[in-house]
Amino acid sequence: MRDHGNLIDGEWIAGGELRTNGNPSDANDVIGDFAAADAGQVADAIAAARRAQPGWARKAASERAAVLATAAAELQTRAPELGELLAREEGKTRADAVGEVVRAAQVLHFFAAEAVRAIGEKYPPVRPGVDVDVTREPVGVVGIITPWNFPIAIAAWKIAPALAYGNAVVFKPADLTPASGWALVEILHRAGVPAGVLNLVMGRGSVVGDAIVDGVDAVSFTGSVPTGRRIAARAIGNMARLQLEMGGKNPFVVLDDADLDIAVACAVNGAFFQTGQRCTATSRIIVADGIHDAFVDRVKAEMAALRIGHALDSETQIGPVVDARQLQTDLDYIRLAREEGCEVIGGDPLERPTKGHFLSPALLLGADNTMRSSREEIFGPVASVIRVRDYDEALAVANDTPFGLSSGIATTSLKHARDFQRNSAAGLVMVNVPTAGLDYHVPFGGRKASSYGPREQGSYAREFYTTIKTSYILS
Ligand code: NAD
Repeated sequence: MRDHGNLIDGEWIAGGELRTNGNPSDANDVIGDFAAADAGQVADAIAAARRAQPGWARKAASERAAVLATAAAELQTRAPELGELLAREEGKTRADAVGEVVRAAQVLHFFAAEAVRAIGEKYPPVRPGVDVDVTREPVGVVGIITPWNFPIAIAAWKIAPALAYGNAVVFKPADLTPASGWALVEILHRAGVPAGVLNLVMGRGSVVGDAIVDGVDAVSFTGSVPTGRRIAARAIGNMARLQLEMGGKNPFVVLDDADLDIAVACAVNGAFFQTGQRCTATSRIIVADGIHDAFVDRVKAEMAALRIGHALDSETQIGPVVDARQLQTDLDYIRLAREEGCEVIGGDPLERPTKGHFLSPALLLGADNTMRSSREEIFGPVASVIRVRDYDEALAVANDTPFGLSSGIATTSLKHARDFQRNSAAGLVMVNVPTAGLDYHVPFGGRKASSYGPREQGSYAREFYTTIKTSYILS
């Protein structure tokens, strides 16, 4: 895994600077060196994409579908090996990592099928003899910028629809997880994506990201709100189409009538699994007074039993935090929560022989929704517990946030479940299901600061990756 180049116009190109990638579970494990592209190489990639895109768009949709299906089959076959690489690089458990690779294969299969579905419309004339057709065409060259926390699945659910609908791609994986992005691109390249249609440019966001945003027709980005805002401000300069998927501060409401087993399982899974590093992770647990103490006791007992350790250890349920910087962020917020008046359960750095970035999950008891620790995304295994009187207060607190990605409720009341579904100001609503975790065939995205632009995934992805043409034809 040493010296991985960027893919530009079908060639693997060495970069100037090499960036070395490590393993958050093990300070001594070096994964490899990855070439950082400079702005000139990004410009080359965009130019190659512009040259290659019309030919790719002219191919029969079945040919584009076949390439995606070939890559999907290889991902599926190599899921154990690629899952191990992903777990080493990102720190999620082996089972989660293998699951993510399989998910990426499912996504590629899904868009291989979508590529051959009818996407146009024909309207009856209102002017005699003038037919009206609505057809869809590719947007052109799409810049794809992804985060480190789902380095294969998120890349796959952006790249697959882009290619399926005839676009060319310039893809930048996160700086912390280039190996996973590189592996996905290498598979697609060998599966038959023509030269220039899929380009890989690794490296720093400020260099590579800016150069991508300046030169493409559309940008699909997943990452933090500050980066999303910066991309949006820049992209408007060349009127690029935008799809931004960003952070969350996702509420999970527990009502008095909840099934306690379900409520506890959802809260612990949603808040702490994958080390809380999911955009849909539960970070505010909003608990009705009548069930609060029983619920907290059960969550504490579950937390004490969680096995935290090396991502590749078969016993491990929760791996490390992704890097030293994120660990420090988590610890800073835990300290802040104490200063704000919370009682903190857990939240301690853990020594392990491999010297990874391990942290025990933290529950912030006695939180209220005005605290910074309750309002700002932490992106670690840290959840506030906010006590409320009843359902009405729970709903108000759940919605009182700058974010609107995922929300959940544990209740046995159909009335409250339906009311929550209607009135939750989030793009995803979960009833007796954890806030994190999603299926690949349905739209994904949020509201407010969490998302901007058309939805990702499912057939809705076509709204972003195609542009509409309305034609009036005198026949
Ligand atoms: P980040 O914003 O730091 O980086 C995301 C990507 O943007 C990386 O590839 C990075 O190199 C790049 N980047 C950085 N500066 C850039 C610039 N100026 N121009 C263009 N690109 C630039 O986010 P992260 O730390 O990698 O990921 C964590 C964040 O992602 C969290 O906020 C999380 O909630 C969010 N996230 C959201 C979703 C979702 O679908 N809503 C999914 C996963 C993660």
